[in-house]
Amino acid sequence: DQLGPQQAGKVISRYGQHADIEASDGTIHRCNLRRAIGSIVTGDEVEWRQGKEHLHGISGVVEAVHPRRSELSRPDYYDGVKVVAANIDQIFIVSSVKPDLSSQIIDRYLVAAEDTGIPPVLVLNKIDLLDEESRQEVDEILAPYQAIGYPMFLVSSHTGEGVDALTSYLTDKTNIFVGQSGVGKSSLINALMPEQDLDVGAISEVSGLGQHTTTTSKLMHFPQGGELIDSPGVREFALWHLENERVTWGFKEFREWMGQCKFRDCKHQDDPGCALQQAVEQGKISQQRFNNYHRILETMASDRPTRQSSD
Ligand code: GDP
Ligand code: ZN
Repeated sequence: DQLGPQQAGKVISRYGQHADIEASDGTIHRCNLRRAIGSIVTGDEVEWRQGKEHLHGISGVVEAVHPRRSELSRPDYYDGVKVVAANIDQIFIVSSVKPDLSSQIIDRYLVAAEDTGIPPVLVLNKIDLLDEESRQEVDEILAPYQAIGYPMFLVSSHTGEGVDALTSYLTDKTNIFVGQSGVGKSSLINALMPEQDLDVGAISEVSGLGQHTTTTSKLMHFPQGGELIDSPGVREFALWHLENERVTWGFKEFREWMGQCKFRDCKHQDDPGCALQQAVEQGKISQQRFNNYHRILETMASDRPTRQSSD
C-alpha cells in the first residue's frame, strides 16, 4: 500500500478503531489508528498519512499524537476515569436564569472546571424571561462571580441578546459547552452555528457512510473561526469524586488563604483560627460561595462509596 507524506491533522471524531481526521485544508479523512499510538480523542492533534480509499471509506492512517494542552474526563464505569476530549481552551458553563438559578450548581461546574486547568466562562441564558425584580435577584446571585473575575455573558438564544459578545469570545478558540439539561445549550449552539450540520455532511461525503451516531464527541467549526467540541457524554460534565483539598482549590478565591488556618486539619467550619472563616467575616470571601463549598463537600462525602475496612 502506498501512503502519502506525513501531515498534521486534528481528530474531529473517534469511532472505535477509526477516527475522522481533519487535514489542514479542511478536508476530512477516515483513518485507521496505528496500534502503538495509544488512546486518541476528539480534539487531539495528530500526524497522519493519506492512502488509497479502502473498504468502509478508510483512506488514511494516524501515526502519532501530539502532547495535549488539556484534557476533559468523565467517570467511567470500567476505566475509572476516561478522557473524552483534548486541547479545549475554554469551558462555557451554561445556566438558565429562569425558572431558578442555582449558585450551587454553578459552583459544582466551576470546581470541576478548575480541576481540569481549563478556564471556565459563565453563560446565563434565557434573560428574555427576566422582569425587573427577578433581574435583581439574578444580579445578586452573580455578584460574587463578577467579584472574583470569572468572565460572564448574559444571553438569550431566543432573542439573540448578548449573543454577539459571546461570539467574539469564542472565536479562534476550542470551546465546550456544559450545563444541566434544559438550560438551552442546543438552542445556543444553533444560534451561534447556523450551519452546524456542515461538518457532518462533509464527513458523509468522504466516507460514504451517512450520518454517524451522536453518542461520540465531535468537533465543529464556528463560521467566524474557532471550534466547538460537542459531546453528549460531557455536556453535563459535573463534579464527581475529588479530594477535599481539590474542592477547596476549585474555589479559586480561597487559594490565598489555604494553609493559613491555625490547625493543619482545619475543616474550615467552626474551627478556631480558620483563615477562610475570617475572610468570610471580613467580606473577602462571599458567604454564598462559602456555603456552597460546605454543601459540595457534604454531598461528596455521601456520594463516596463506603469502603469496608479489612484490617
Ligand atoms: P439543552 O438541554 O441545554 O440543550 O436545552 P435546549 O436547547 O434543548 O432548550 C431547552 C428549552 O429551553 C427549550 O424549550 C428551549 O426552547 C428553551 N430555551 C432555550 N433558550 C432559551 C432562551 O433564550 N429563552 C427562552 N425563553 N427559552 C429558551
Ligand atoms: Zn480553616
